[in-house]
Amino acid sequence: MDIHRTKDEMRAARAAAAGGEARLGLVPTMGFLHAGHMALVARAREQCDRVVVSIFVNPTQFGPGEDFDSYPRDIDRDLDMLRAAGVDAVFLPDAAEIYPDDAETVVEPTRLSRILIGRLRPGHFGGVATIVTKLFNLMQPDAAYFGQKDYQQLCVIRRFVRDLDIPVRIEGVPIVRETDGLAMSSRNVRLEPAHRQAAPVLHAALEVGRETIEAGEGVSVAGQLIRARLAQAEGAEVASVDLRDAETLQPLRGAPDRPVVMLLAVRFGDVLLIDNMIATPKEPE
Ligand code: AMP
Repeated sequence: MDIHRTKDEMRAARAAAAGGEARLGLVPTMGFLHAGHMALVARAREQCDRVVVSIFVNPTQFGPGEDFDSYPRDIDRDLDMLRAAGVDAVFLPDAAEIYPDDAETVVEPTRLSRILIGRLRPGHFGGVATIVTKLFNLMQPDAAYFGQKDYQQLCVIRRFVRDLDIPVRIEGVPIVRETDGLAMSSRNVRLEPAHRQAAPVLHAALEVGRETIEAGEGVSVAGQLIRARLAQAEGAEVASVDLRDAETLQPLRGAPDRPVVMLLAVRFGDVLLIDNMIATPKEPE
C-alpha cells in the first residue's frame, strides 16, 4: 500500500494510474477508522480497480471551541486496517500541505450549508465542501464514497458536485451500527461510560419515529415522540430533532406522502452525536 504525504506525490500516482484506465475510487475520512469507514472501503473495492483512502482531520470544518484538538487519532492502527482491506494507496497530508497560508477561495453551498447542522456548526459545511473539492481535484476519482451517517453532508456534496459539474459519481453507503444500535463514530470513544450506555437512545428514538410515520401520523407527532424517548436517557441534551423531506431537506407539515428523513443531534457532555433514519409512509389502502 502506497502512502502519499504530499500533493505532488498524490498527483504523480494519479497520473501513473490514469494511463491504464483503471477506475479510481476515493474514500475521504478523518481517520480513527471503524467498521463504518470500512463499509465505504468495501463498496469502493467492489466497484473500482484502485482504491485511495484519504486521512485528514480538516481544520476548516471545525468551529472555535469544537473538538479539533481532541479529535481521536491513531494513524498506525488506521494503516493496518487499510492494508488488511486491500486499499491501494493512502493520502496522508498535513494541514500546511493542504492549505497555503494565503488561501482565500472556498466552496460554500449557500442554502443547504446553513440549515440543520449548519446552524449548530456555522462554517462546517463550507469547510467540508472545500476540502472535498480539493481532494476531487487532486485525485480525480471516478467515484467517491460517503456514509449516510452524515446525511446532510451527503446532500451537500451531491448538490455542489451537481452545481459545479464536477465529474465524480457520488455513492452513499448505509449507516453501520454497533450491536446495541449506536451508529459507529470516531467520537464514540470520547463518551464517558454512563453516556456510552445511554447513547443507543438515538437509534431507539429514531425507531419510534419511523413506526409513527409508518402508522400514518404527522411529522409533529413523530417529532414529539422522538423527543419524549430521548428525554428518558441519562445525560442526553437534545440539540436538534428535525423531520424533513428526505430528498430536499425542506420542512414538512402534517402526514407526509413521501420519504421523511429524521435527523437527530444530541450532546452527551461535550460530545455531539448525530444519527438519522428514513421513514417511508405507507401508501393509503
Ligand atoms: P469521518 O472520518 O467521520 O469524517 O467519516 C468519513 C466517512 O465515513 C464519511 O463519509 C462518513 O459519513 C462515513 N461514516 C462515518 N461513520 C459511519 C457509519 N457508522 N456508517 C457508515 N458510514 C460512516
